[in-house]
Amino acid sequence: MKSLVYSLVIMFTLMMFASPTLAQSSFTKLGGCLVMDVYQRNTNNKDLDKYCLQRNNNLTEEQKEWVNRQNLSMLGLEVRAAYEIAERRISGTAYGVAGGRNVRLVIDLNEYVTAGISATKDTIYIMINTGLLSMIYDSVSAVGFEIAQLNGMPVTETGITFSEWMEIMRLAPNMESLSVPSPGPDKLNSSWFVQGLIPRSVLLQFVFSHELAHVHYGAYCGMSKPNNMVQRRQVEEACDAHAINTFNQNQESAFNLAQFLPAFQLAHASYLAIFSENYVSQAPIGFNEHAKTLIIEELKNAIPKRLDKNMRLMMSKLSIPNEAKPFLEEYFKRIRFNILPSLPSKARHESGKYLTSLPVHIDFGEPNCNKIDASFVFINAHDSRSVSALIEIQSRVIPRDGQNILSTKAPRDSRGNQYRLVDLIREEIVIKPKSEHIVRKILPCKVLQVAYPSVGARVVESSWTDM
Ligand SMILES: [Zn+2]
Repeated sequence: MKSLVYSLVIMFTLMMFASPTLAQSSFTKLGGCLVMDVYQRNTNNKDLDKYCLQRNNNLTEEQKEWVNRQNLSMLGLEVRAAYEIAERRISGTAYGVAGGRNVRLVIDLNEYVTAGISATKDTIYIMINTGLLSMIYDSVSAVGFEIAQLNGMPVTETGITFSEWMEIMRLAPNMESLSVPSPGPDKLNSSWFVQGLIPRSVLLQFVFSHELAHVHYGAYCGMSKPNNMVQRRQVEEACDAHAINTFNQNQESAFNLAQFLPAFQLAHASYLAIFSENYVSQAPIGFNEHAKTLIIEELKNAIPKRLDKNMRLMMSKLSIPNEAKPFLEEYFKRIRFNILPSLPSKARHESGKYLTSLPVHIDFGEPNCNKIDASFVFINAHDSRSVSALIEIQSRVIPRDGQNILSTKAPRDSRGNQYRLVDLIREEIVIKPKSEHIVRKILPCKVLQVAYPSVGARVVESSWTDM
């Protein structure tokens, strides 16, 4: 518990050294993009102008609203300061990557959580989607809420913790509309938002360092040209490693990176698990079905593997203060424990009735329910097909009648009751035609005066094979 307080103290004290000194850095609107020239040299790029003007014609209401909510000069200061730190650290000197070139930062107003870089002989373009910025802001706020809650600190802002946010992501595919709310706070000028300045900056520095590594160490970050999915991931891992390495000079930044990067990448991975299918089917280029499946798999699988590698790298390569290590080890363990969301549509056989589950034995362990002992039978009713399925058993608390203890964003079960997830276990099972399979699990349980424990099972994914 002490180390949690420590982390919070670091976050708050660093704030005081963070007064921005760069004057008049701000984004200007170019068509549907926000653009900033870091090094004020004239940049002419007709393709970019054309792209941004075209974007302007098809901005959605949310995208326009996003721009209106921003304080562009504040945003400009944050982004520019992060860029300059990243460039200095990755190359060793100011202008170390740009050389004599201009650097044009472009914010593209769309929900994709990606960034990209391209270099010409007179300009380096770095394009960041607003989806990526929001993902950074949201992860920092949600982790902040969680730390505050764990330390019993009063929080005046409304928002949800990182665990609650992950829970909503995990359950999003089961909700009526496929969407993930921001954990808040809603107001960009709230004190909470101001307190997140340092971690946000650290994550932005990481993103810029990763992108600059693609130029400074060559397009493939020192690897050879990738030919397949695994090699493409290895290139991204190499760029991540270069970016992490830039934090080895500074204990506080290293600690902040270790504390916020895993949350950010886990949120990113969860987001891709939910939305990558939408992205790929909405992409302006048409893909055939096979290509689509490959791209979706690549999107979904790449980040969790990078995340795992990054956590090991940060722990072994960065100078993390000794007193913070036990906290980080525990935190990394919790990040690894998270299970990514999965779309339930895959769980249904086209007939909708061949794979069912029923409770066979549930023991809430009187009187205090520390553990639930639950058994469910999964039945394959099909005559000739066997099924391999990913099943899930959840323990939850459900508020008693008339009680309102959960945030309005808490998930709902199929009967519309709001609940809070206590724990969830997943397992792969294979069932032959006309057979059944019993799964028994012991899950942690909670009883609250205002809420009762409950347990449920469901099929998350399944695939059928003819016998
Ligand atoms: Zn990259």
